[in-house]
Amino acid sequence: MIKRAFVAFLVAGGMCAPMARAQNAVTPIGDVVAAALRSVRAERIEQTIRTLAGFGTRHVLSRTDSDTEGTGAARKWLLAQYEGIAAASAGRLTVALQSEMVPCTRPNMPKEVAIVNVIATLRGTTEPDRVYLVGGHYDSRNSAGEDGKAAAPGAVDDASGTAVALEACRVLVGLSFPATIVFVAYDGEEQGCIGSAAHAKALAAAGVQVDGMIGCDIVGNTLGMDGKRYDKHVRCFSYAPSGSDSFGRSMARAVTYATTTHVRDFTTKLIFRGDRFGRGGDHRSFFEQGFPAVRLSEPREDFSRQHQNLVERDGKPYGDVPDFADFAFTANVTRVVIATLAELASAPPVPRVVSAQLRRDRYDTELVYELPAGVARCEFVWRETTEADWTHVIDMATAQPKPTRSDRLLATLPGVCLDDAVVGVRSIGADGSRSRVATPPEPDRFDQRPRTGQGGGR
Ligand SMILES: [Zn+2]
Repeated sequence: MIKRAFVAFLVAGGMCAPMARAQNAVTPIGDVVAAALRSVRAERIEQTIRTLAGFGTRHVLSRTDSDTEGTGAARKWLLAQYEGIAAASAGRLTVALQSEMVPCTRPNMPKEVAIVNVIATLRGTTEPDRVYLVGGHYDSRNSAGEDGKAAAPGAVDDASGTAVALEACRVLVGLSFPATIVFVAYDGEEQGCIGSAAHAKALAAAGVQVDGMIGCDIVGNTLGMDGKRYDKHVRCFSYAPSGSDSFGRSMARAVTYATTTHVRDFTTKLIFRGDRFGRGGDHRSFFEQGFPAVRLSEPREDFSRQHQNLVERDGKPYGDVPDFADFAFTANVTRVVIATLAELASAPPVPRVVSAQLRRDRYDTELVYELPAGVARCEFVWRETTEADWTHVIDMATAQPKPTRSDRLLATLPGVCLDDAVVGVRSIGADGSRSRVATPPEPDRFDQRPRTGQGGGR
């Protein structure tokens, strides 16, 4: 019912296809996202988490021949959920399994097993080859990495992230986007991100342009080990090899932009490192293929839950069971994901920055850039080099872009001293949606390594 009402709203708004957007009055992206966010249901997220935990274990070595126990039951259930959504999508959502046989030489894996990803694709209407992706991993583990039999409910790690992707799919299937959105339940994360690595490699080999990947992993607990509640923000991890800008960080700032613009009473905290110390996740598989990727994780993890056997020690329960999950929090993380995916998949592609220079006669920055074909609007952003996120926006009327001799565009950012600032440009769609920001390369870097004995300085 919810979905039908939502689709009816969109049809009434003349928003079901980009053609309709072009011909009729364009519904602002803010209205589209607001309607989508209202249809997120914490109860459905709870049902997904409880169902997945109810299969006992989803370890890659657990049973595959049952409908009620083990990883096989989990993937059959997930496949059925996505196929159910696809059946009502008039062919716009397609679902597939991607399977990879992994030999027994891997640590913790004494036999060959199939690693199976469940992948749902909402094909873009005009630019299907530009792809945005959200994924969580449905496999789980307990204290022993190779234990495929004992309970490993994995409610927070990572039925919660799997539930985010599924709920985002349920909500976004009611909309059409120029770019493609992919929703994935990954397998084999606990054994070294095997499923996501296979997926990212396959996408790269096929020449697919993944313009943004959001890994949702451990997004369900809000009760810290200090007894305090942490439910007002989600951490967004991103990596940059040098300096503070990279594709991944540009994606992270797109997540914060979408959160601040569309999501109420909830924020994103930028963390400027790829992941937590000594830990990893599926976003890394995408980063390694050169795709912009970030990881969302709850603010304070409870380590008595993750990767634990279900035991009680000194009266304290251990194990990753659903009763300790906060479904309203996971619903808010889902809203962050939906806002980001809807914004980016609606927006035109990212512009290309050619160069930036500081004028020699006054302290203005000149930015030379190219807009993708058919894109008319953009805006410029800047920040001090020490700021984490964009602090200033300059519109086209102020920047007065002019064509250069080589048919590029030259914008002037008045009063912005390039040597002290980071500048960038992003595309704007007819509905007001914003792309990721493109930035010029940093100047020559002081990249030399510390002398022996002075390590740790960088
Ligand atoms: Zn995990």
